[in-house]
Amino acid sequence: MAPGAVLLLGATVVLQSASLREAVTVSAPVYPWIVFGAGLLLGWRFNRSQLAVALAVLFAANRALAAFPPDASSTGRTVFAAIALLLPLDLALLAWLAERSIVLWSGRLVLGVLLAEPLAVALLLRPELADLARGLDRVFVSVALPWLRIPQLALLAFVAALSLVGLRFFTRRTVIQSNFVWTLIAAFLALNSGGTGAASTVYLTTGGLLLVVSLIETSHRMAFSDELTGLPSRRALTDALLRLPEVYAIAMVDIDHFKKLNDQYGHAVGDQVLRLIGTTLTRTEGGGRPFRYGGEEFAVLFPGKAAEEAVPYLEDLREAIEASSFVVRGRDRPTRRPDKPVRSAGGRKSLSVTVSIGVAEPDDLDADPEDVIRTADQALYRAKRTGRNRVCS
Ligand code: GH3
Ligand code: MG
Ligand code: MG
Repeated sequence: MAPGAVLLLGATVVLQSASLREAVTVSAPVYPWIVFGAGLLLGWRFNRSQLAVALAVLFAANRALAAFPPDASSTGRTVFAAIALLLPLDLALLAWLAERSIVLWSGRLVLGVLLAEPLAVALLLRPELADLARGLDRVFVSVALPWLRIPQLALLAFVAALSLVGLRFFTRRTVIQSNFVWTLIAAFLALNSGGTGAASTVYLTTGGLLLVVSLIETSHRMAFSDELTGLPSRRALTDALLRLPEVYAIAMVDIDHFKKLNDQYGHAVGDQVLRLIGTTLTRTEGGGRPFRYGGEEFAVLFPGKAAEEAVPYLEDLREAIEASSFVVRGRDRPTRRPDKPVRSAGGRKSLSVTVSIGVAEPDDLDADPEDVIRTADQALYRAKRTGRNRVCS
């Protein structure tokens, strides 16, 4: 949740700072064009329709508020009340929409609703519908809330939207969902600052910026972590190799007879084993950092440790994997639920796996880490040749 809070706090600090007031007033009108322009471009390039649409909605709200300032006319007041009601609901709707559903009928429906909103607001401005327009501003509960500058109906919409978006975040803890929560708060701050002026523009645009940041963060995570095991990926290892201290050790870990396991139990069980080993690797002690190197090979980096010092931790790791067994369902398990319970002939099998490990360290100060990996690979090959399920250095 942290980056969203930090950005929003940053915006608040900038807005409160007396020395920055002039700079903020001058630059606020350009801020939305830069953020929404860049954000829409990224959303399109990264094929993220959910985010692109959310940015378009925020930008449209920003433009409408600029075109019809709420304090200038009754038209402005109606537009403001309508946006304050619709914006939180739109954001909640988009947070609940899964990325791919934008191409399905549900996504089309949401797009239709969003496109119909400006028309609905335009209709509200007709003199015949003046009563309805005034309804948006209605005071339902007469309590004095001096800090509240949006209509009570809009406040209700914000509370409802925040619950919905919050719930979505708890069911699907992604960066994008967490930032939807912060974007909603930013939208509230923007409207509650009056809808126009530097403060409103800065808050609303920061709300958009939060979504852009979450898009970049998501892409970074996709590149640097392995989807199957959740471990840092090979790209993350390449990156870590650039930041090594003088003393370090690299271990290469390869599962023994994994091809056989795949053939015997199927690829899905193989994947499960990979996940299990990935989890075990995260418990490596002695400061060892695991990575999925590729296929069924892992690397463990020990910054600040010589190869010899890393060996005991690697032995622990090897033993932990050897000791962990897990249950697979028999291959003869029917794909459809039988009418009567059938005793499986194969039954449930307990499966055990072992790994072989090779470890190496740089032989001089300017050794290339890639060479250390090659040396570790040779040690791994020795471990395989001399009987597997062992650590060689
Ligand atoms: P050895 O003990 O000599 O290492 O024997 P091995 O059978 O493990 O040989 P090798 O290391 O060459 O095996 C690689 C096999 O790993 C080939 C492939 O079927 C399997 N494999 C690689 N990546 C994955 C994956 O992501 N999921 C699954 N299920 N299998 C994978
Ligand atoms: Mg291999
Ligand atoms: Mg193998």
